Amino acid sequence: MKVLVAGGAGYIGSHMVAELLDSGYEVVVFDNLSKGHREAVLGGEFVEGNLLDQNKLDETFKKYKIDAVMHFAADSLVGESMTKPDKYFRNNVVGGLNLLDAMMKYEVKKFIFSSTAAIFGEPDKIPIEENNTKLPTNTYGESKLAFEKILRWYDHAFGLKYVCLRYFNAAGAHKTGKIGEDHNPESHLIPIVLQVALGKREQIDIFGDDYKTEDGTCVRDYIHITDLAQAHILGLKKISVDNAQSTQYNLGHGQGLSVKQIIKVSEEVTGKKIKVKIAPRRAGDPATLIASSVKIKKELNWKPQFEDIHKIIDSAWQWHKNHPNGYSK
Ligand code: UDP
Repeated sequence: MKVLVAGGAGYIGSHMVAELLDSGYEVVVFDNLSKGHREAVLGGEFVEGNLLDQNKLDETFKKYKIDAVMHFAADSLVGESMTKPDKYFRNNVVGGLNLLDAMMKYEVKKFIFSSTAAIFGEPDKIPIEENNTKLPTNTYGESKLAFEKILRWYDHAFGLKYVCLRYFNAAGAHKTGKIGEDHNPESHLIPIVLQVALGKREQIDIFGDDYKTEDGTCVRDYIHITDLAQAHILGLKKISVDNAQSTQYNLGHGQGLSVKQIIKVSEEVTGKKIKVKIAPRRAGDPATLIASSVKIKKELNWKPQFEDIHKIIDSAWQWHKNHPNGYSK
């Protein structure tokens, strides 16, 4: 089966490409390299292109006989989304629609969508189940929720079969040590904490310690990037059978860790003292996001290999130690 991976040069997309290749799939990556890295794509065909360029999409679907699409090409920074809603709706909704329209034109009807816990906003129930109330507190989450709704009607009208995977917090790096997390500028908690451990940053700013959580800092559900990628392959198998049904899964462990706990585990893993500073809250951050993983474990038989946060952070640490400047030399 040939899978088009939109955004396959990014952090999550590149790990997805590695898992697909390992599992025997053919891969075509479509990425504009605005944030991704060409070196992160370990194999398959590579097309440099933007989802806002419908001609390029058309050309790509015409050239390669694509069977299924996995879509990671999106803007995903909560903070930035609050000041640039135009960018988030254009790239995440309009760009995604262009991709769907190319799929429909070439009769590609299998789609795996990278959605997010941010569609729920401040949860009314924890752990968060798939049918929890959805009231995003940031533009990023709103753009992903809008796209989930669009998918439902593409299924209804055109027979698109899809799985939405709502990520909680992805972390860690590939077992080969060849690919890992490298954003510029970095905004995610674990890479920043590890940059402090490496002496590349003075301190970690904790965005708020007055949340209604046990230690006052935000609680998130961290899963390993390889476990996350595996869920996509299981999702693709689910929609590859006759009479497949589209659906959504929350993708996390069901365990919450606070920002302070992540810093403590990082100190244990790295053996370095991490200097912290309490900073103001970041706009749009809910206090606690913890997934219920009951549905995905039951229906997809998803079995995460990395249950322990020490192992997840150690996997990230190996990458950062060996690539202190990320992909750049
Ligand atoms: N965070 C923080 N300092 C940082 C970066 C992140 O305190 O420099 C917090 C952030 O407010 C959130 C958690 O760490 O509660 C995880 O943030 P991240 O950006 O890694 O992922 P997100 O939850 O936004 O997807």
